[in-house]
Amino acid sequence: MSLQQSSKLQQASVFQSPTRRAGLNQLEAFLPNSGLHYASWRNSDLGPDDRSNVSVLSPWLRHRLVTETEAVKRSLEEQSFDAAEKFVQEVFWRAYFKGWLEQHPSVWTNYKQQTSLLDNFLAEDQALRCRYETALEGRTGIDCFDHWAMELVETGYLHNHARMWFASIWVFTLKLPWELGADFFLRHLMDGDPASNTLSWRWVAGLHTKGKTYLARSSNIEKFTNGRFKPVGQLSAKAEPVHESAEHSLEPLELPEPELFGRIGLLLTGEDCFPEQLFPELEPVSIFALTVDIRGDRATGSCAETFTKGALSDAVKRSASHFSQDVVEGSDTETLCEWARDLGLDTIVTAYVPIGPVGDRLEAAQASLVESGISIAKRIRDHDRVSWPHATKGYFKLKKQLPDILQELGI
Ligand SMILES: Cc1cc2nc3c(=O)[nH]c(=O)nc-3n(C[C@H](O)[C@H](O)[C@H](O)COP(=O)(O)OP(=O)(O)OC[C@H]3O[C@@H](n4cnc5c(N)ncnc54)[C@H](O)[C@@H]3O)c2cc1C
Repeated sequence: MSLQQSSKLQQASVFQSPTRRAGLNQLEAFLPNSGLHYASWRNSDLGPDDRSNVSVLSPWLRHRLVTETEAVKRSLEEQSFDAAEKFVQEVFWRAYFKGWLEQHPSVWTNYKQQTSLLDNFLAEDQALRCRYETALEGRTGIDCFDHWAMELVETGYLHNHARMWFASIWVFTLKLPWELGADFFLRHLMDGDPASNTLSWRWVAGLHTKGKTYLARSSNIEKFTNGRFKPVGQLSAKAEPVHESAEHSLEPLELPEPELFGRIGLLLTGEDCFPEQLFPELEPVSIFALTVDIRGDRATGSCAETFTKGALSDAVKRSASHFSQDVVEGSDTETLCEWARDLGLDTIVTAYVPIGPVGDRLEAAQASLVESGISIAKRIRDHDRVSWPHATKGYFKLKKQLPDILQELGI
């Protein structure tokens, strides 16, 4: 069996496996391709049956079943720095977007407000609703776009280039609000991530790098889909930047070392499914798994929902064994607060929860916990602690620091 064939088989089966073991297997299977092969071929979208030119690791990285540091480290063990540099740079885009959003929190608040406003418009404006539903259901008549809409819903994954083309067609050809497209992605992608997703959509629309838009072109789609699609004459020829009235200021990063004291309970969420590595020394009196979807309350696609549920359930199994404690599961923060009070906890310790729906929920619960004398201590991974301070402007600023960042991470 050739490398490509074996890689394809891996991909078909691993997406069904939201476990750390499956993620590590996927990483190992990809390593031989993570050097120059990735650098040369990563931009081609060969279709859902062949993902051998990219890692497809994002669902595992998103839930931190496998960490970014592990992916970068293993790649640099197998490849020279020059060969693996592109892959390493791509992995750090995730940290860049997370760090940037963390320092521009109003972008997330504004996105949520706009999305719910647009829900109202959709209820009132039949023409807008019709265009929106036509796009979601893949009935626009633009073959590539319709294919990607279906692929997203059916597989929970899209190649990076397809995500860029899709977002560009959504905004500039179909003239739909970018927030609704971002919401469609967030709800269906297994790797659905408030930072990478919201900021990538904003980048395409000309809001992230002010005035710089991304225009999908037929010739580019034809070239990088190996001729599978050729939407000649169907796409907008220009991409005028979208405007917004809101200003998003840079807020200081606050990443204090958490203070752990008294009776400690461990909180698991889908944001970090590798707690035994983050808290090796911890002896919690109990563990609570908060089973809320990392994408929020809006209807999540079945692939995305299944992956997140499976990822948390894998973390629950490993935690129960590592910390020798049973795990209590609950789907809301009221149950979390009751659990903490009943056990007389002083501290709930959890992996740092970045900006997004889970963070929103915890923030809302914080007041009630503090009233009961319970504090939430969030431990940040070194990968984020070291990278995020460089994510204040464009990605280039962080990229320039990569040698130092890698050194600080001991890679
Ligand atoms: C409109 C749009 C929406 C997106 N939404 C998401 C999202 O919700 N969640 C998400 O994880 N990624 C998102 N991305 C980024 C990127 O498309 C995916 O991370 C990547 O396609 C995942 O596939 P892969 O694991 O095979 O990537 P590979 O090419 O193998 O890259 C390896 C890893 O690097 C990271 N990475 C690579 N490219 C990017 C990027 N541009 N931005 C951030 N991280 C990157 C991912 O962790 C990825 O798993 C979006 C991109 C666009 C254009």
